[in-house]
Amino acid sequence: MKPFLETSIEFLAGVGTERAKLLREEFGIRTYNDLLYHFPFRYVDKTQFHQINSIQSDDADIQLRGRITAVRTVGQARGQRLVADFTDGTGVIELVWFKGIKWVKPKLLPNIDYVVFGKPSNYKGSYNMVHPEFETVEAQQKRVSNALVAVYPSTEKAKEKHLDSKGIARLMNTLVSQLPGKGHIAELYGPEFRQKNHLVSREEAFINVHFPRDTESLKKARFRLKFDELFFIQLRLLKLKLINQNKFQGAVFAEVGELVNRFYTECLPFDLTEAQKRVVREIRHDLGSGKQMSRLLQGDVGSGKTIVALMSMLLAVDNGYQAALMAPTEILAEQHFATITKFLAKLNLHIALLTGSTKTAERKVLHEQLRTGEIHILIGTHALIEDVVQFHKLGLVIVDEQHRFGVQQRAKLWLKGNDGEVPHMLIMTATPIPRTLAMTVYGDLDTSVIDELPPGRKPIKTLHRFDSARQKIFDFMRQEIALGRQVYVVYPLISESEKLDFKHLEDGYESIVRDFPQPQYQVSILHGKMKADQKDYEMQRFKEGKTHIMVSTTVIEVGVDVPNASVMVIESAERFGLSQLHQLRGRVGRGAEQSYCILMTGYALGQEARTRMETMVRTNDGFEIAEVDMRLRGPGDIQGTQQSGKPIFQITNLSKDGQILQLARNAAVELLSDDPELEKRENALTKHYLIQEMKNRPNWARVS
Ligand code: ADP
Ligand code: MG
Repeated sequence: MKPFLETSIEFLAGVGTERAKLLREEFGIRTYNDLLYHFPFRYVDKTQFHQINSIQSDDADIQLRGRITAVRTVGQARGQRLVADFTDGTGVIELVWFKGIKWVKPKLLPNIDYVVFGKPSNYKGSYNMVHPEFETVEAQQKRVSNALVAVYPSTEKAKEKHLDSKGIARLMNTLVSQLPGKGHIAELYGPEFRQKNHLVSREEAFINVHFPRDTESLKKARFRLKFDELFFIQLRLLKLKLINQNKFQGAVFAEVGELVNRFYTECLPFDLTEAQKRVVREIRHDLGSGKQMSRLLQGDVGSGKTIVALMSMLLAVDNGYQAALMAPTEILAEQHFATITKFLAKLNLHIALLTGSTKTAERKVLHEQLRTGEIHILIGTHALIEDVVQFHKLGLVIVDEQHRFGVQQRAKLWLKGNDGEVPHMLIMTATPIPRTLAMTVYGDLDTSVIDELPPGRKPIKTLHRFDSARQKIFDFMRQEIALGRQVYVVYPLISESEKLDFKHLEDGYESIVRDFPQPQYQVSILHGKMKADQKDYEMQRFKEGKTHIMVSTTVIEVGVDVPNASVMVIESAERFGLSQLHQLRGRVGRGAEQSYCILMTGYALGQEARTRMETMVRTNDGFEIAEVDMRLRGPGDIQGTQQSGKPIFQITNLSKDGQILQLARNAAVELLSDDPELEKRENALTKHYLIQEMKNRPNWARVS
């Protein structure tokens, strides 16, 4: 027999075929269980009363307590309405009924204390409340239990069929009243685990989240349900990690190593920041542990991730292994190759570059040298994970700017090890994501963070200007160019096929060429429709300082280093998301001079766009920006955390529930360290549910 909660919603008393269709289409509710997961978005506290003289026009449903002073019927026939004056001593409000006049009227008595509940609206300066709920104070006091009333999300279409918040609450009541003591809501943990983590039963949680007894029980209910959501994601990710670690062995880098030491003393032209030191220690610890490392390294642009990567690679070489660094584009691979070769010049290592444009003959030699182990460090693009590329003994792979790599490409790297060993993996990203989100999306990876910039860096000054100030901005650009600096001007081109965007870019380019005439000024243009070699050519000219201004779409490479570029002008900045704006800003500020980021927008800005501009102007801190971004957009839109339109969380709010997340993660770690296979009897429920979850939610955690 089907479990009770899987019953089709159509069979719930008060639903039927038509409403079932509506519930499905408007809210995705198909079963009893789905209805239970339709959580209230707020609660009205029925122990609190508003005062009439302090009603705000945007008050949602409120509760008043007072007496009726007059009742009258206004209008004729179908336009007829019943109006009652209601006062609480601070003011008067009109209660209005258009329907049910006949049976409401006799209930409205003088000299009796009433409680009324509804949404006030302002009509010509005074307030009224249409179709309020009302009852005597005496009656309400007999029902102490219903102090907090759930308010449910609804839609216009649903409201037409009386499925507004109240209508939904009625259905919920029908369902929830069938639950207590029937065992329909399965428990997920053993009693000891529940006690240790202060969890009320799941049944109690569902009952109280919809019909809270009081504030305290509501708090406990919400905690329990959020804990469940977060705990099973963590448990699942940690389990995945355990499975991988048990299946594969990681190379052990036991030696601290001569190369690392020599690099540190002879090659490093500056001191590492404390954050860099800490991360190097974390990586070293992993690499010596005998377990395969899967680590995510987050660090804002310019925080110095390359050095950390480099030292990790030297550690591999010190221990007789090869190391590879994979970048998302040729330009970036070449740039890494140049930097790293320069840094390591004294160490006499064989470093090679392999990209799509490596000539066939050269490639053959490279392949051979990789197989024999002659090459110590290989730097390249996707080309280095092709099947033909075989290593002698690959110990470490570093992936830079990981968000451009797919899971499958990453998985391919696992197979590049030798003798049953899997190379260690370090994934570097300059797109900080909030810690809570990182724990959710990359919970199977360990994370390191470089949260400190090298000393002496001047923070980029960010300004927000309206389009009308363009001539002033041009003057400013001229000044900077006169000082020998270079300028980026970026246009949004959300999709390269959008004709209008493209026209903006071309118009912008033309107006800049007009205002910055040759031969005094040289202007480059770069966009996605150009051929690869043409793009490289323009980028190269700009890098070499042969052009002063680079007009482009967002195709300007993530991570490209032009230290002499000191100004970034972003056109139609309101059309970019926060993290994208922050990424773009990271293109400047790489040299010693003061750098600027100028956000150009029109006057008419929505609230959200204004918050984005203000955030950019206020802070350079990528993590702070990521937090705001998550608050504005919700976690679903960020980093592809949403699968097939179904949000990961029904009740958790990642920007607010970080603490519960941490508790849930700790609990999962503890549980698995005590019982890695979940074999113990007291964990049987947990195991059962985990298996179900793994079936229901295919790999959403690895979308990036
Ligand atoms: P990103 O994290 O964006 O990849 P890079 O590794 O490219 O940053 O470093 C940015 C610049 O800062 C480079 O020129 C690098 O040599 C320099 N750098 C890195 N670490 C330090 C440090 N500790 N002190 C001074 N300069 C540093
Ligand atoms: Mg970098």
